[in-house]
Amino acid sequence: LIEGEDELLLPRYVRVNLLMKTPQQVIDAFIADGWTFLPEPPSPPAPPPANTFHLDEHLDFMLVFPPKSDLHLHPLYVSGVLILQDKASCFPAAILAPPKNAYVIDGCAAPGNKTSQLAMGMGNGGKIIACDLDLRRLNILKRLTTKAGCTNITALNTSFLTLDTTTPDNSKVSHILLDPSCSGSGIINRLDHLVDAYAEEQEQATILETTTTGGAAERAAAEEKKKERLKSLGEFQVECVSKAMTFPNVRKISYSTCSIYAEENEHVVTTLLKKHWPTWKLTPRAKVLPTWHRRGYPSEVCDIPGLVSTDEDRAKIADCVVRAVPGGPEGDLMNGFFVACFERVGKSSLPGL
Ligand code: SAM
Repeated sequence: LIEGEDELLLPRYVRVNLLMKTPQQVIDAFIADGWTFLPEPPSPPAPPPANTFHLDEHLDFMLVFPPKSDLHLHPLYVSGVLILQDKASCFPAAILAPPKNAYVIDGCAAPGNKTSQLAMGMGNGGKIIACDLDLRRLNILKRLTTKAGCTNITALNTSFLTLDTTTPDNSKVSHILLDPSCSGSGIINRLDHLVDAYAEEQEQATILETTTTGGAAERAAAEEKKKERLKSLGEFQVECVSKAMTFPNVRKISYSTCSIYAEENEHVVTTLLKKHWPTWKLTPRAKVLPTWHRRGYPSEVCDIPGLVSTDEDRAKIADCVVRAVPGGPEGDLMNGFFVACFERVGKSSLPGL
């Protein structure tokens, strides 16, 4: 990927905050401003041409504008109606889709774009506990979610890993979104970092650079360091999801990274299935963005005794999860991303779930 060139190719994705306005109201406002609304996205997939925009074909609350469209001074952005959020970063909350009255935890929540999307999907009903270790980032979450008109969020400055699962609220939790710290290796739209919450997300990510200069020994040392870092990130990610599975009434858990590495994606999923199957399984493709073409990599799904041993098994597991390949035109015109959704097997003791 050539830095800079890719940035130019990425469309500007805008989430319409349904707590405040409908997509049609926003479309009408942009048309009144002189923009041309395209009834269909460009085919083959490409960013919309200058001064045009369209509705996203997978997410019905998302509008797609030309690369580098600067909307930060637009009154609809200033008032919280428009949220600048990459398309792939909207996948986890869209897949988790908790019912309006649910108790939900966003375990690694700051700076809070996914938390505010959860609140939007729940129409401010139920309760969201948004937890983050980093107080500065959690304060950004409070500011962003207040601006977005969210009223069902309780922000907690604590480690998700040490939450007491038996408190009255936590024992009612049925849905958990987990977007833990990762390598951030899928993030390419660095321009965003100057201006919105992505700055915070990127700052937290551990960029793993493998040097292409220097001698063979230097390259080997860098490669070794990267391997160790990915291993420790993978272990942390497995620990987070395993913790989520201990909440007594949790039914559904979405796990996501903005990483391109299998060590944080398919490998984490396989380790979790090994540990927790048959109590937990992957939610099938039919309920995980079924029309999204890019799925997991079967070759990265490891064997699991009694569950995965053939190529067909590996393909089935990979089909349950979602990937986005960063950049374009061969990529998906967004940041690199990965989402898997786990669901508990068996009946719920919570009414309506
Ligand atoms: N979901 C966020 C969003 O969409 O805006 C981005 C989350 S970012 C990738 C990962 C977050 O996990 C960081 O804010 C980091 O401070 C937080 N974190 C790391 N370890 C944690 C832990 N043990 N408990 C809670 N939060 C943690």
